[in-house]
Amino acid sequence: GKESKYAVVGNPVAHSLSPEIHEAFAKQFGDNISYEKIEIPLGEFESYIEDLISEGYKGVNVTIPFKVDAYRFSTKTTAYARQATAANTLKFEGNKVLGENTDGIGFVQDLKGRLNFSLKNKNILILGAGGSVRGLLPVILDELPKKISVANRSVARAQQLADEFGIQSILYDETGSEQYDLIINATPASLQNKAPLIPANAFEDCELAFDLVYAADPTPFMQVAKEGGAKVTSDGLGMLVEQAADSYNFWLGHRPETTPVYEYIRKLLAKK
Ligand code: NDP
Repeated sequence: GKESKYAVVGNPVAHSLSPEIHEAFAKQFGDNISYEKIEIPLGEFESYIEDLISEGYKGVNVTIPFKVDAYRFSTKTTAYARQATAANTLKFEGNKVLGENTDGIGFVQDLKGRLNFSLKNKNILILGAGGSVRGLLPVILDELPKKISVANRSVARAQQLADEFGIQSILYDETGSEQYDLIINATPASLQNKAPLIPANAFEDCELAFDLVYAADPTPFMQVAKEGGAKVTSDGLGMLVEQAADSYNFWLGHRPETTPVYEYIRKLLAKK
């Protein structure tokens, strides 16, 4: 069939692995797609997306800092996008713009699959209160954890998130007084080569310490977690592949196999 055009839009977007991931997915089905990286200047989200629609694009992945713009631009949204008030996936159908958020589904899928970790009845600590946490929370809550606490550099932002989602807000300094099964780093600190400043004993009984940032080597958060006693540590590459698979499914109606693509992208990242 005719080639269908897709892209990832963001700023910056140069280092995105999404083209390689989606090209690998398309190969599994023999789908004829193209997938590009498009950097959108700040403040020009709408006009760029309108151009892509008129050029016949079928959908886009949306990354930093446009997920809220993407949500607002949607004419119809899924429940997860509404609960997050952010969209990481847009599908263009005639005059309609369908907005979905697959970050949470991708995260939970990566935990349940590759990491064999169930969220049910678990005590969870989340570091950060930004856009990605808004995407994660609705889906994590669906898995019936025992308790979720959120700590953030700007405390007011953690408090607002806690009120909105019915979870607990906690100070960074207080996190050593409790034991967590899962600690999620949803800050970009690792990109600045820093680990979030939480007491090392927070990791003592931690089954899984998960960094949303991905890198060729263990991130500073993963290193601190391991030293503090976390049993398993992971970066966010598996989540990246899983959220992409859900976006692919949202566009094309079939979900790719993720394990071989994860292994391929992991090798690619090691070479970069
Ligand atoms: P946002 O910019 O929306 O939020 C960032 C959050 O991190 C804020 O709560 C901010 O605190 C906090 N923060 C920023 N810098 C630091 C620091 N040096 N120390 C402590 N806290 C800090 O980002 P997102 O939530 O969208 O994304 C977070 C990270 O997750 C990014 O690195 C992103 O690349 C990654 N990500 C990975 C995905 C994957 O598939 N693996 C998917 C989505 C995101 P404050 O409120 O005080 O500013």
